Formats: sequence, C-alpha cells, structure tokens
Amino acid sequence: MRNGLSKDLIARVLGGAPKYTLDELEAKFPPRQLPDGAFVTRFAPSPTGYMHLGNFYSALIDYKLAQQSDGLFLLRIEDTDTKREIKSAVNVVLNALADFGIKYSNDEQYGPYYQSMRKDIYHSIAAYLLEKGLAYPCFLTQTEMDEIREKQKLAGLATGIYGEYARDRDISEEDIIKHLDNGEIPTIRLYSNGNPETRIYFKDFVRGSISLPENNEDIVLIKSTDRLPTYHFAHLVDDHFMRITHVVRGEEYFGTVALHIQMFRMMGWPLPNYIHTATLDKIDEETGKQRKLSKRHDPEANIAFFLEQGWPTDAVIEYLGNILAPGYEEAKIKGQVKSFWDYELRPKKIPASGFLFDMKKLEWWAKEYIATLPVDILVKHVVDWANEYGSEDNKRQIADVDYLTSVLAIERDNPKRIRKDFITWQQTLTEVAYFWDFLFVPNKEYEYNQDVLNGFLETWNESDDKDTWWNKVVEVANKCGVKPGEAAMNLRVAMTGRTNTPDLYSIMQVLGDKRVRERVMQHI
Ligand code: GLU
Repeated sequence: MRNGLSKDLIARVLGGAPKYTLDELEAKFPPRQLPDGAFVTRFAPSPTGYMHLGNFYSALIDYKLAQQSDGLFLLRIEDTDTKREIKSAVNVVLNALADFGIKYSNDEQYGPYYQSMRKDIYHSIAAYLLEKGLAYPCFLTQTEMDEIREKQKLAGLATGIYGEYARDRDISEEDIIKHLDNGEIPTIRLYSNGNPETRIYFKDFVRGSISLPENNEDIVLIKSTDRLPTYHFAHLVDDHFMRITHVVRGEEYFGTVALHIQMFRMMGWPLPNYIHTATLDKIDEETGKQRKLSKRHDPEANIAFFLEQGWPTDAVIEYLGNILAPGYEEAKIKGQVKSFWDYELRPKKIPASGFLFDMKKLEWWAKEYIATLPVDILVKHVVDWANEYGSEDNKRQIADVDYLTSVLAIERDNPKRIRKDFITWQQTLTEVAYFWDFLFVPNKEYEYNQDVLNGFLETWNESDDKDTWWNKVVEVANKCGVKPGEAAMNLRVAMTGRTNTPDLYSIMQVLGDKRVRERVMQHI
C-alpha cells in the first residue's frame, strides 16, 4: 500500500470529482433477491461487427445456466474501445441473439449496460482505490514505456510495468501536481502487491482446482486517452455491481484470472465463479490436424454464416448443446427430453479442451430437426429466410406460397417416412428447384426409351389414384419389354432431371398435368 491521495487531487487526477462513494454504489446495486442456486450470468461482447461462433457458444451457456436455474441472463456491451463504430456493430449482436431466440433480461436498476455509459461508476471505484493507496496515477509516456520494454527484453525479463519498472508507483503528491500542471493526463494503475513466486489457488468450474502465480503487474485500470476503464477493471466493477454469480468466458481470459482474483480480494468482494470455455476447433482440410476455428479461414466461424445460409438456428443450438452437455443426444434419442432447453446442463461437464465443431455433424442435427417440422412451419422458415437473405430466384420460388407448400409437403405425411434431405432453408429451395420451370434443367444426357415416354403420355390421367397410375406404368413397361422400375426411371428423369427424388407420383401431382406433359414431351 502507498499513501492515499487527497480528495482534491483525486478529482484532478480523474478529471472530475467522483459521483458516488463505495457505500452508495453498494446500496444502489444491492445483492439480488433470487431463489437459492439461481445463476446470474452475462454475455459481454465487444461490438466489432463480427460475432464468432465461440462467443455465441459462451452466450448459449450463459443463457442456459440462467434459464435452468430461474436466474437472470444479462447483456452487457463492452464498448470502451471508442475507436470503433459501435451502433451497427451492436446490431450484429442484437440480431444474432434475437434470431437464435436467446433472450436477455436486463433489469433497469442494475444498468446502464453499455460500459461507455458507466464512467461515473468506474471513476467512483478508482477514486476509492486512489484514496486507499491501492492505485496511483502514472505519467509514463509511450516512449518511456517502449524503452522499459526494450530493457526488459534485453535482460530476458517479463515485460510490463511492475516493481522497479513502475516508476510512478510511489510518486509524491508534489510530483503528481507538477505533471498535472504540465497538462498531462495520467493512466490510473493498480498498486500491485502480488508476488509471482507465490501461487494463488482457485476453482474453475470447467478446469477444476488450479493454481497460478500471483500478479505483480501494475496494470492499467483507467486509460489516459479517454479515461475509460480497461477490460480488467470493468470486469471487476461490473461483474460485482451487476451481481453476476458466474462468469462464462473464453479460455483466452484464463491467464488473467490471478489478476482478477487479486482485485476482487483487494476490494473485499466475493469472487464470481469462473467458467472458462475451451476453443471450438475443426479438422484442417489441408493438414488433417485439429485447429481453432479461424475468423480468417473458416466461414462457419462467423455466426452470420448460419443465418445467411439459413441453417435452422434450433439445430445449431441442439448441436452446440450436445457438445456442451455430453449425454444430451442419448437422452433425446431415448425420448427423455424434447430439446436442449429441457436437459440439465452441468457446468462441470462442459468440455475443458478444444472440441470439434464438425459441419457434417451439424448437417445430421439439421436434417433430423427439419424432419420434425410440420409443413406450414417449414414453409414459414423458408419464406422468412428467402425474404431476408434469398437470391432473386429464391424470391420467385416463394412467390406462390400454396405451390411451395405442396412441394414441401411431399413425403411429410407419414411419420415413419419423412424425407431427411433438407439441411438448410437455402438448400431446401435448391433441392426442390426442379419444381419451377424457370429453374428446371432438363436432363439431356439420359438415354430415354421413347416407347416408354409415348406409352406414358397415351395413358396418363392426372386424376388417377396412385395404384391406377402404377398399374398403367407396369402395363406400358411390359409392352416395351422393360422392367417397371426402369420405366419409372425414364419418367423420373424426364420430369425432374434427376435419378434420385422423392415419390414420383406425389411429384407429378404437384407438377400438374401441363408441366408433366411438357416435360415428357421435351424428350420425344
Ligand atoms: N468483451 C469481452 C469479449 O468479448 C468479454 C469477456 C468476458 O466475458 O468477460 O471477449
């Protein structure tokens, strides 16, 4: 501990007198009255205009833990990096959460939830630390810090402002005044009393009991440039006053836990529980090795990818849920639970090391999910998607909703035989494109049996039921000396351009007499 600063000097150092005392803040944001065991979690994105799947994964854990414990899930916007364009970047986050059905419930009393609007709160705590001699103003310039860094590197030491390198650690009031009179704005640094030789112990929900060296760096609490807090200081202040019980964040924050514990202890505040999630990995196509999903190389690292391609958001959640909660898939197959939301997520079971996010597995979840949808819901998803993200062709496909509905209704009525070839809303429209004349590509390669095609046209009657139609096909096949299956294949390829389709009779019913005749005639 060093000498605390006088109130006047604190006001000068911070560029204004603090608005609140510590007690006032404690009273303003009292501990919440929630049932025992309720988790209060928060998702705290820095709005960059891009949302990584890994961030979404953290948000999903936050939301699920709050939802299953009758707790609260909050959204805090970490917008203290004022260089960035914030508004549209925040919308990226808000839209993604809304599209995936992740609802946050920010209660006003504990706000505001934009860090840029919480300056008074951070400054009040900074003032408290300055007064207690637990923080100090530092006037090192960038050049001076660069020099320190070089020296440390040459000497093979850890870089940073600590111990003897923290020039202003014990700066006197007189010197502070001199700098201020000179027009300099200081950073506010932590007066660290940690010793890296000593270890700090804590329990991470995912990683178990862990020890880390104590922090001895006088890290920056308040930046000089805009007088806003650093991530570390904002985490301390916000997670305390928002009364967060569980901090879920990526493993890249693991290295800062010792510092965070040090700060919570210094304030005499209870420590939140930490859940440091592992990275989402994939198998690199070139090297065959497991590696992190990369923003630069993998389109699926971006949450927007799933929305733009029309992946069913519920299926993405189901798959991520299965990664998070081993055993969920089995429980679902056994019919013990309907969806991830009914399955209890145990924080201790969340994977601790990088696990694979495999697009092939996601496909399986998506196919299974779409197969459960009644046709009107399927149509609604496809239409909504096409309106927002679809191509001009997609928009033409959805123009006649009745026709689209009859197309998508094929092989959905028998629960035992629901087609499972739809993966995304986009791919669904592509899969059934042949139903629209402007998209239909006749198959000219196929060697059609002219007798079969002619025989079909002579006997085809749109109002025949399935058996009558099939008997006619068999008759035509017999006359032409081919197997019924081969005759049907001729018709299938002529009408759809493909050798593999759902039930041909249903397809013809939807295509209607005119299209059926035109398509067959094209090959005669
Ligand atoms: N703003 C940080 C991020 O987006 C938040 C980390 C945290 O959840 O504490 O990575």
